[in-house]
Amino acid sequence: MEAPTPSRAERLFHLGADATSRTFQLPDDGSRWYVCPLCLLGFSEDDIGTDLTEEHVPPKSVGGAVLLLTCRSCNNSAGHTIDAAIADRDHIESFAQGISGTAEYTGRARLKLGDAEVTVDVETGPNGVRLNVVRGRTGPTDLEALRAAFDAAVEAGTSDGLAFTLTPRRRVHTRQASIGDLKSAYLLAFTKFGYKYGTSAALSVVREQIDSPESKVVDHFFFPMPDHDREGMILVTSEPCVALLVMLPDRAVLLPFPFDGGPEDPYGQIASLGGPINFKGHPVPWPTEPEYVLDRPGASGS
Ligand SMILES: [Zn+2]
Repeated sequence: MEAPTPSRAERLFHLGADATSRTFQLPDDGSRWYVCPLCLLGFSEDDIGTDLTEEHVPPKSVGGAVLLLTCRSCNNSAGHTIDAAIADRDHIESFAQGISGTAEYTGRARLKLGDAEVTVDVETGPNGVRLNVVRGRTGPTDLEALRAAFDAAVEAGTSDGLAFTLTPRRRVHTRQASIGDLKSAYLLAFTKFGYKYGTSAALSVVREQIDSPESKVVDHFFFPMPDHDREGMILVTSEPCVALLVMLPDRAVLLPFPFDGGPEDPYGQIASLGGPINFKGHPVPWPTEPEYVLDRPGASGS
């Protein structure tokens, strides 16, 4: 009889358990453990689907794919704060692109015109921006004020006389969104380099920061890079120091790489430089499944 094909989660479990058993000295009793890359707690195969869950990187809300397993507790707590902040930022960015005519956008916003303030559905496309007043969310007084403001503008006959403010309904928590990026970057680097990398002392501040998005544990990890052409890459930098620069859309996240001469605290080094930083290094592609290259037998990097 053929064994049933393992599910994706089972496959991810065993890839992690293999790497775990090579990297940590575990009792040789045949038991297998998957260590959550965020909290470093161990889970058994029976925990799949309950305490051990599939994690999308970047978050599912911005189009990420399942990359590895994390524990339910880490997955849930991040989902409510930093992953949600990433989704909100993505929403605001597409709103801005929609209004400036560089992308299509559909969503709800507040329109302020003269004394009127109404809720509108915004739709942008090749023919411009369409605003539809949401009747159920607009009182008769505001609707009347809106008509009056339009009439006044038409009466004045000027094309530049209609000033209004359009505010998307969501807010961005910038710092939390950047910590969401730190988490995506860490999980990508972890999936590439493995447990020897993720459990090294240099990475403990990164895991701590992801776990406590409200406090400031690390700084100088986030670099806005609009329209860079290295999307889907991890830059293994040689300058200004050995580190990893994980390239996300329009931004990059710096992580320690305490191997091959990399410092334990690249953030301190970056902070002392000041001014614009010129990163140099060689790119490796994002992993699409666990590679754990430093956990492989005979791997360098010690
Ligand atoms: Zn965890």
